[in-house]
Order: sequence, then structure tokens, then C-alpha cells
Amino acid sequence: MQVYVNGALVPKEQAVVSVFDHGLLYGDGVFEGIRVYGGKVFLLDEHVERLYESALAIRLVIPMPPAEMAAAVEKTVAANGIRDGYVRLLVTRGSGSLGLDIRKTSDPQVIVIADTISLYPAELYEKGMEIITASTIRNHPAALSPRIKSLNYLNNIMAKIEATDAGAPEAIMLNHKGDVAECTGDNLFLVKKGELLTPPLDAGVLDGITRRAVMQLAEQAGVRVREITLQRHDVYVADECFLTGTAAEVIPVVGVDGRRIGDGKPGPVTQDLRQRFQKLTRGELSLKAASR
Ligand code: PMP
Repeated sequence: MQVYVNGALVPKEQAVVSVFDHGLLYGDGVFEGIRVYGGKVFLLDEHVERLYESALAIRLVIPMPPAEMAAAVEKTVAANGIRDGYVRLLVTRGSGSLGLDIRKTSDPQVIVIADTISLYPAELYEKGMEIITASTIRNHPAALSPRIKSLNYLNNIMAKIEATDAGAPEAIMLNHKGDVAECTGDNLFLVKKGELLTPPLDAGVLDGITRRAVMQLAEQAGVRVREITLQRHDVYVADECFLTGTAAEVIPVVGVDGRRIGDGKPGPVTQDLRQRFQKLTRGELSLKAASR
């Protein structure tokens, strides 16, 4: 495996960062997870744009322009001969002193890893998942915006531990108001009376790129999409539920906190959107010009 580090492709054994890097010391940095389908990097421009927005929000200056970043991803994917895989793109704050002051850091590390991923067992895509609600709430947006995809995932990791302890593959995270936000690594959607519902960005969620794509696919399919505040109760009484994410893609949820969702099987809207999403990844469907 060849890993891209600051402009060069090096064997993975040589792909290392300093123990003084604030990415390690403080989780100070930003990242993206990106899919490769059929040798093509999926929604690359959207991921690169979000990376630079995350960096801007944490006052991290990425030492190269977005076009060069996109080219670095393409180059790493090609060098590793990846046809269907997963790219981890990250930028750390760089090495510094044992203190928080970013003025004492230098040399942000730009790293691209091209590998494969399988988040959930294949059978869960057919049967649907049973998940729980975590007691760990999502980061308060006034503390650290959940729209920043930072290297500090402890908030989500704490909730994921709760899921694992409960024998569940994922957990719903509520926000500081007690409303539904998202899952530990995925956005959440409900289907109710034929409409597609998802929490708005101001519920404190990541502006998921799969979320955006699925909303556009639903509109193309004639399904009304609404971003509205959702409570746990709305999840329990939904007709269908599914999660979206780059790694997860579109995965049905058939049980939450011991309640059966709908008839306990992946519903028709979920299945239709899953198929449309698969077509999108194969280039058999395209998205309309972005509406935001
Ligand atoms: N929410 C969180 C907390 C995530 O980490 C992710 C990405 N793994 C998502 C949602 C989904 O975002 P995307 O579709 O851009 O991968």
C-alpha cells in the first residue's frame, strides 16, 4: 500500500507523523471519508469542499489549494489500483509544543489513505438493523459544531460504545434539546405517510454528503423531503427508518430501543432509495444541480 503524505507517495510503513503533531495530541485536525466506485472517486468535489470548510472553521490553513487536494486523492487511488474502496483524507494541525497554542505549530500533515471498508455485515442491508438511542448527547453546536468533521470523534465514540455494549451496530444521538440529531457515523431519515423526514442541520448534525444525495434522489423520485425537528417518538412511530453515510451507504433500520419500526422489514421507500443510490454510484443516475 502506498500512502500519500505531504506530496509524496510512500510505503505504508514509512507513512508516519510526529508524536508532537496536534492531530495526535489534541485531535486537532480535519478529515473526510470518501468512496471509490468502479475506479471513480465518488462526489470528490463535495468532500474536498467540506474538508476546506471544516478547516476554515477550526482556523487550520491547508497548505495546498482544493484542486491539488482532489488530484492527490485521485493519484493515491490510482497508485493503489483501487476500483471499489474507501479513501481517508486528513489534515492535521502539524507539530507543536505541548500546549494548545496553534501559533506554535507548523507543517500541517496532509495524508491520503486508499483502502477498502465494510462497515456493517452485508445481511443487515437486506434485513435492516436494530439500534438504540445513546445517553451521550451530540456535541452542543455552540461548543464544537457537528458540521465540522474534525479528528476529535470522542463524542461519537462514547455513543458507539453504548451501542456496542447493548449489542447494537449503531446508536441514535439526541442533541442538547433532546431532539434527534444523527447516529454516531451516519445521518438519520424517517419515512412517514410517504414523506421523507430528516433533522435539519441546526439540529446539530454533520451535513452528510450521502444525506444530500439521498434528499435529491428522493425529490427525483417524487417523494416530498422535509427537514424537520424530530423526537424519539417520531422515530418510534415512523413507517420506515434508514441511515446514510459514505461508509454505510443507505442502510435500513427496523428496530429502535426495542420498538419495531413499521412492519419490522425494510420499507418500500427505503428500498427504492437504496436502489437509486446504487445506480448513482454506478453512474446510471445523476444528481440535479445542487440546490444549496
Ligand atoms: N454523521 C456523522 C457523525 C458522520 O461521521 C458521518 C460520516 N461518517 C455522517 C453523518 C455521514 O456523512 P457522509 O454522508 O458525508 O459520509
